[in-house]
Amino acid sequence: MTEAVEDAEAGAPAAAGPDDAAAGGPTDADWAAAVAAVRDLRADARVLLICHVNPDGDALGSMLGFALGLRRLGVRQLQATFPGPAGVPEPFRWLPGVELLVSQDDAYPDPDLVICFDAASESRLGDLADRLATAGTALVLDHHASNTGFGTVNLVDPHAAATSVVALGLLDRLGVTVDAPTATGLYVALTTDTGSFRFEATTPAVHEMAARLLATGIRPGDISRQVFDTRPFGAVRLFGEVLGRATLEPAAAAGHGLVWTYATHDDLARHDQPAYVLEALIDSVRCTAEADVSCVVKQSGEAEWAVSLRSKGAVDVSRVAVGLGGGGHRFAAGFTGRGPIDAVVAGIRAALPTAVLIPRA
Ligand code: AMP
Ligand code: MN
Ligand code: MN
Repeated sequence: MTEAVEDAEAGAPAAAGPDDAAAGGPTDADWAAAVAAVRDLRADARVLLICHVNPDGDALGSMLGFALGLRRLGVRQLQATFPGPAGVPEPFRWLPGVELLVSQDDAYPDPDLVICFDAASESRLGDLADRLATAGTALVLDHHASNTGFGTVNLVDPHAAATSVVALGLLDRLGVTVDAPTATGLYVALTTDTGSFRFEATTPAVHEMAARLLATGIRPGDISRQVFDTRPFGAVRLFGEVLGRATLEPAAAAGHGLVWTYATHDDLARHDQPAYVLEALIDSVRCTAEADVSCVVKQSGEAEWAVSLRSKGAVDVSRVAVGLGGGGHRFAAGFTGRGPIDAVVAGIRAALPTAVLIPRA
């Protein structure tokens, strides 16, 4: 769907301070507790997997890859879901394991075990957050440095390039042999969050994991084409229009520059496109050489906007997003904006100078 969707650039230096519980990654005790939570399930246990709202390749790929691994372990009562409308974005509809997806209304109300993927906080689980209380055990798999540790057991590794790194770590400890269908989801997650192995997150360990997944026989060319390089002609035209009205503000962010654009429900309707096609738009906007910071403001309600922020390294956009009620990673973050577009952008513009990491020479 997009090369820099939600968690892209996650492996860029984590925005974790010494006080972050997650800073060091999972301890041996965390891994042991997670393994026990799965191993000790009764044969008739109901397991519910949940990933974050507006799921991206890491959310869906980690969740569905892990689901198929659980299947191989013999878990029979297994559902996967995410908050909000049930439709899976077209780029991910072919993923092995999608048949396990149910709408949030059909998800087990009181599962024995709930496992959350790629969500930094309960708020990212929308109406499904209540399952954290109704489930016997809540296991959290994630890689956001800002993760609040909202599970009973938390496997949070801010150094992991994607949540699928954590998911594979747990599958290995459970003794699950990774087959091609499982590898497909985990690989989609890894390519999504590393921007197809281009971002700083692309460590030797990332390539080693990719090699291991590819060795199952999955086809990277086919996967990349479906996930990143395919969109309807209407979306191509829509992008043209929305990119055509992008604004460059060279003086913003203390001279590092800001480029931004917006898309409304009306834009989507005119081109007969679903909202998720806009997730890929930030990748085209952030190419702008003259701006360190890029921003796409996407209408999500009457006067409500889903805002994506990216930085090339001079600005900590997570600081901007957190200050405006959102979150994310240092160089890829977002928040929900309210009011007129101009006011939302004014809020960003005002916050940027406080988030500059590298003074402009
Ligand atoms: P996006 O721009 O939607 O691809 O998101 C980039 C990053 O920002 C991800 O790590 C998200 O977890 C985070 N993010 C986006 N929107 C929000 C939000 N409304 N609240 C908290 N975090 C967000
Ligand atoms: Mn994500
Ligand atoms: Mn992620």
